[in-house]
Amino acid sequence: MRHDALGWWIAEAGAPPPLPPLAGDLDADVVVVGGGYTGLWTAWHVLDAEPNARVAVLEAGACGLGPSGRNGGFLSSLWLSFPSLRELHGERRARELCEASAESVRAVGAWCTDEEVDAWYREAPHLVVACAPAQDGVSADAVDGREVVALSPQEVRAVCDSPVFRGGVAARTGATVHPARLAFGLRERLLTRGARIFEGTRVRGLRSDRARPDAPGAVVAETGSGRVRASAAVVAVNAAAGGLRRLRNRLTVSSSHIVLTEPVPDVVEALGWTGGEAITDGRALLHYFRTTRDGRILFGWAGGRMAAGARPHGRMEVDPGVVAQTRRDLERCFPALAGRRVEHAWGGPIDVSPTHLPAIVTLSGGRAWAAFGYTGNGVGPAHLAARSLASLALGRRDAPARWAWVDPPPRTVPAEPLRVAGATVIRAALARSEAAAERGARADPLSEALARLPKRLGLHIVR
Ligand SMILES: Cc1cc2nc3c(=O)[nH]c(=O)nc-3n(C[C@H](O)[C@H](O)[C@H](O)COP(=O)(O)OP(=O)(O)OC[C@H]3O[C@@H](n4cnc5c(N)ncnc54)[C@H](O)[C@@H]3O)c2cc1C
Repeated sequence: MRHDALGWWIAEAGAPPPLPPLAGDLDADVVVVGGGYTGLWTAWHVLDAEPNARVAVLEAGACGLGPSGRNGGFLSSLWLSFPSLRELHGERRARELCEASAESVRAVGAWCTDEEVDAWYREAPHLVVACAPAQDGVSADAVDGREVVALSPQEVRAVCDSPVFRGGVAARTGATVHPARLAFGLRERLLTRGARIFEGTRVRGLRSDRARPDAPGAVVAETGSGRVRASAAVVAVNAAAGGLRRLRNRLTVSSSHIVLTEPVPDVVEALGWTGGEAITDGRALLHYFRTTRDGRILFGWAGGRMAAGARPHGRMEVDPGVVAQTRRDLERCFPALAGRRVEHAWGGPIDVSPTHLPAIVTLSGGRAWAAFGYTGNGVGPAHLAARSLASLALGRRDAPARWAWVDPPPRTVPAEPLRVAGATVIRAALARSEAAAERGARADPLSEALARLPKRLGLHIVR
């Protein structure tokens, strides 16, 4: 098995040659910090609305080499989060956001067709499935009979015949993609449309531009090799948002890891899993799995460790202990894979918000906005958040600029060092308790008590 920080998707797609860094000063209408899906889609939506806008994207490394190029490729709507959204924002605003999120799933597919980007887009429902009695009833609160439907054990196993699957639910609007092909395709099409993209360009700070009394509210993005003056800035740095003083208590960072089998089309066929459905289990520290166009099974686990100070580090990218556990869990779900090769393993940081929902926050000065908190569900929502960000950056007062996730009531996480210490202990207890439940057993009483704590306190860990 190859442990590779960048993951198989990026190797399969072939990363494009890097673009030169910013050198000197530049004027723009909108400056975007971060070249993952959030930043790239924001640039796209800005240019869609105003084709002559001057858009500059500043990316610390290379576009699409972060989580956007190496995730599981589940392109999901927000319908499974409807109950939480309704609790936070009320029925009408929650529905408005969920409907728009389903549009985003379809819009990414239409974009791939129109732009002739082969990102392996495949429409298929997303299932959430109980894999142990303790998980029965998972996501049942999201069932509305229209967007999310209940599935019996037989219906679940007709989709994918794993011996551990029980009942579940299916969110009807969903798709899978090849994440790196999508990110690289987007970068390429943006260049054709005239966006200026600078790689190897880390933004060190944003400040308001006092030297421009003619353009009050203009912002300057400072880098080591130059600066961009713009009318508006969008901060799309995902887990690194935890490093911003203003946002440091708005998110935690943990890791998610993926293992990928060799092509096993015979196993996929025997499971009857030929519809391309993306599936997650009912754990709090969830497993997620899907097939690929070339007949592999991708299996991920959100049970990786926390990053101190919300800063990603080495074991966010590849954590051998987490990889080994993920591989064991894969074989529990799919015993037919015994003896088959797991060829690749990798991981990456997840920006976990206390509500598990992304937020868009106006930064000081009122000419900059940041999106963060996708909590492992950012492929579809980043396209949607980018619609809000583009509207805000262009000063539009349309619906996306006013969706419920724009400047929601702040929800904070505990301060450090309690945050990492407490969450690390609780996550380890949850992992023990959930693994025991799958074996039909109970973990030790302390682990069980700690695992129940977040629910009692009304906190989410990760899903
Ligand atoms: C292993 C794994 C599996 C996942 N699976 C799924 C899935 O199946 N479905 C799903 O919906 N979501 C999934 N996610 C989450 C999803 O990948 C993210 O939510 C999404 O990619 C976020 O996009 P982004 O553009 O906000 O962030 P990123 O892709 O992280 O992009 C942020 C960019 O900002 C750059 N940056 C950071 N700091 C600076 C700076 N100071 N200056 C300039 N640039 C900077 C970084 O280099 C990076 O390229 C997964 C994540 C991981 C790690």
